[in-house]
Amino acid sequence: MRGTPALVPLAAAALLLAGCTASGPRQVAAPPTAAAEVADAVPEEDITPVIGRVLSTPRAVPTTDGTVHIAYELYLNNVTNQTATIESVDVLDENGSSLERLDGDDITQWLKVSGATKPGRVLGPGQGALVWLDVVVDSMDELPASLDHDVTIGFDPGAPPIIPNLLTSRLAATDVDATPAVVISPPLEGEGWLNANSCCALTPHRGAVNPLNGAFHVPERYAIDYVRVGDDGFYRTDPADQLSSYAYFGEDILAVGDGPIVSMRSDLPEQAPGADPTGLTLDEYGGNHIVQDLGDGVYAFYAHLQPGNPLGVEVGQELGTGETIGLLGNTGNTDAPHLHLHLMDSPSPLGSNGVPFVYDSFDVAGDITAEDLAAKVDAGGPFTIDTTDARPAEGLYPLWLTVSGY
Ligand SMILES: [Zn+2]
Repeated sequence: MRGTPALVPLAAAALLLAGCTASGPRQVAAPPTAAAEVADAVPEEDITPVIGRVLSTPRAVPTTDGTVHIAYELYLNNVTNQTATIESVDVLDENGSSLERLDGDDITQWLKVSGATKPGRVLGPGQGALVWLDVVVDSMDELPASLDHDVTIGFDPGAPPIIPNLLTSRLAATDVDATPAVVISPPLEGEGWLNANSCCALTPHRGAVNPLNGAFHVPERYAIDYVRVGDDGFYRTDPADQLSSYAYFGEDILAVGDGPIVSMRSDLPEQAPGADPTGLTLDEYGGNHIVQDLGDGVYAFYAHLQPGNPLGVEVGQELGTGETIGLLGNTGNTDAPHLHLHLMDSPSPLGSNGVPFVYDSFDVAGDITAEDLAAKVDAGGPFTIDTTDARPAEGLYPLWLTVSGY
């Protein structure tokens, strides 16, 4: 029986239920209405061989594309000893209307099977998977009160009638947190700041689902990596492995709100750019950093700062909005100078949950395409910035690949 622990209890439980139902009428001749009365009083049970839950209560953010994004994650687990293929995922609002649908092979770009080394949507026996969702609505007025999920799964082999070959399960219902996104000031000044790795594409930030302290944490869901693109479209000159090739290296990092520093680090050396560092310990990933308490249970994390605490800030110091707190550097887990910024619901940069935020006021200069980024990032540019939608912006979160002036 080794290797079949999940299916046996499921099948046994289902057969036990069926047996009880079948034996009842033989012993007591129940009137025709009795069955309906029982059905009304007792919720109907659905067998869900793939179970699921959302990792944290979704919370929305108004964004630079003129919509509102609700980015969150669905964790699925195939508890049978059969193969389960995810055929579709429908996100439903409280009225049962579909807000987002992932279908067929399109799912694979938003789904990662635990332990898998290549893209796919097949969960082996006992295997889990994460699905990254990005529900888009027109405005905060149209925010759903809750979300539910219809997940259609193919089982191979099925075990009808308990587990059919194709089953749609409704699972992982969740409320939507209607709390508005946190309003902050930008952490940088000047033109040409490119949002790398920010929401809501499945960038390395959204993909950073950290198994810490016995649970998943998604602190970087709305994190932004900033590099600056010059008027010529380049973010660096050659050679790539010299910090001096990055003109924005050493730019001022500004406090995004009022509040005290609750932790910081300033002893780590600059990494050589142009390559991923190796051998870092968990507490070195953010490099030199500052964690600031913004109040109401929200903390700001500024990472990869230059060493030596050049502004002389200290833990406990009350920062004011716009105050210079450090210099843009290349310390920790970084292959090019950049500022990493995210807001989170605890002082722990890795073991927390990401909180959405908007900037009070800034300028959208334009954006670049993912294809342009992929084609030119290794050469340092030149990126082609589409300035069609250039405009002043208030109360918005800059989406991935937006170029902003602050
Ligand atoms: Zn980052």
